[in-house]
Amino acid sequence: MNKQAYNPFETAQKQFDQAADLLDLNTVTRDLLRSPIREFNFIIPVRMDDGSKKIFRGFRVQHNDARGPAKGGIRFHPLETIDTVRALAMWMTWKTAVADLPLGGGKGGVICDPHNLSSSEQEQLCRGWVQQVVKNVGPHTDVPAPDVMTSAQHMLWMLDEYEKITGERKPGFITGKPVGMGGSLGRKEATGYGVMITVREALKELNIKPENTRASFQGFGNVSRYAIELFQQMGGTATCVSCWDQESNQSNSFRKNEGIDLDELLTITDSFGGINKLKAGELGYEVLPGDAWIEQEVDILVPAAMENQITSENADKISDKVKIIAEGANGPTTTEADTIIKSKNIFMIPDLLANAGGVTCSYFEQVQSNMNYYWEKDEVLGKLDLKMTSAFIAVSDFAKTNKLYMRDAAYIIAVDRVAQACKDRGWI
Ligand code: GLU
Repeated sequence: MNKQAYNPFETAQKQFDQAADLLDLNTVTRDLLRSPIREFNFIIPVRMDDGSKKIFRGFRVQHNDARGPAKGGIRFHPLETIDTVRALAMWMTWKTAVADLPLGGGKGGVICDPHNLSSSEQEQLCRGWVQQVVKNVGPHTDVPAPDVMTSAQHMLWMLDEYEKITGERKPGFITGKPVGMGGSLGRKEATGYGVMITVREALKELNIKPENTRASFQGFGNVSRYAIELFQQMGGTATCVSCWDQESNQSNSFRKNEGIDLDELLTITDSFGGINKLKAGELGYEVLPGDAWIEQEVDILVPAAMENQITSENADKISDKVKIIAEGANGPTTTEADTIIKSKNIFMIPDLLANAGGVTCSYFEQVQSNMNYYWEKDEVLGKLDLKMTSAFIAVSDFAKTNKLYMRDAAYIIAVDRVAQACKDRGWI
């Protein structure tokens, strides 16, 4: 498949249409929910370090805010498009709804490759992004956060610009900030830990002990690392992890059958999650090309990188041993691949549920920031576990009762909640 030609917004709309059919939604509700409520598409001029000026394109899409302020991250990525951002914004609406947070869904992006930008250039991009949308975002309107290739430092530059323009301290404007500067303890772990909390619950349902399981992970960024950390604490063995290799422009998988050593791997990983191939080889890792992470004979697969990774072309390569797929990334599985996964009878924990820990903790951060009173880490992680576990049980019970695929069950719960909020507000 030509990954460039793939359009995630089409996948998001197909998934929505399936849920709308199952819920028998009327035309006006479909028209409202099938597309974003508001979109901002703008340019950001940056003075480059060599003195030249360069124009970047940025986006913010607010898919739906019936249940509360729009919420969702900002990605810096060279292949970002308005349709990627639309899809991700829509997925955020369902994610906040399935986690039962009083928030809507939004997403932002800038077409750029931070690998090739200096710190000053990245700071200007952050400040320029805020300048373009300042009237349409805010703690009670739309609350951004980090996502692919954006960090706590980016969030702090954005907050600073927002506060400069508005003339007030409003740390609740943005989440994923550094701890001590309005950030929440536990936020950096939250998405990965959340993924593993849902895996833990799925294993209970399948009557499998975590210590008897092996898992393979795609991606070695913030989500994957903390998912591996909690998985290992649960007694599981992480045998394979893949990451993108900037130099060769392809991904590599790193395998150690007795289990990877997280701390050791982190010492040879760059700030974008790229593992050094040569050094990994020296440390005894088998370095395998491309999609090897998906072909491993493991019990659990965790795609935690980008959208469009499990497709009709590689879903067949998933081993018959795999019992659970937990989607740490947003939109990693195409609708065609979903059909293959369903036929293999794999327990799917869909993105909107599996990776909801990040936005759940962002919600906690926002609450703390708005109060300017910060909680202990244990309190944050305890609340995270409660929210994730109850969201998982609600979806899984609904799936069992109605004999549904977990993705369909999660979608029905989410879409129904959002449709109801729109109806109650008199929008439809
Ligand atoms: N970017 C994360 C996501 O896709 C977190 C969003 C947030 O914290 O608002 O869920």
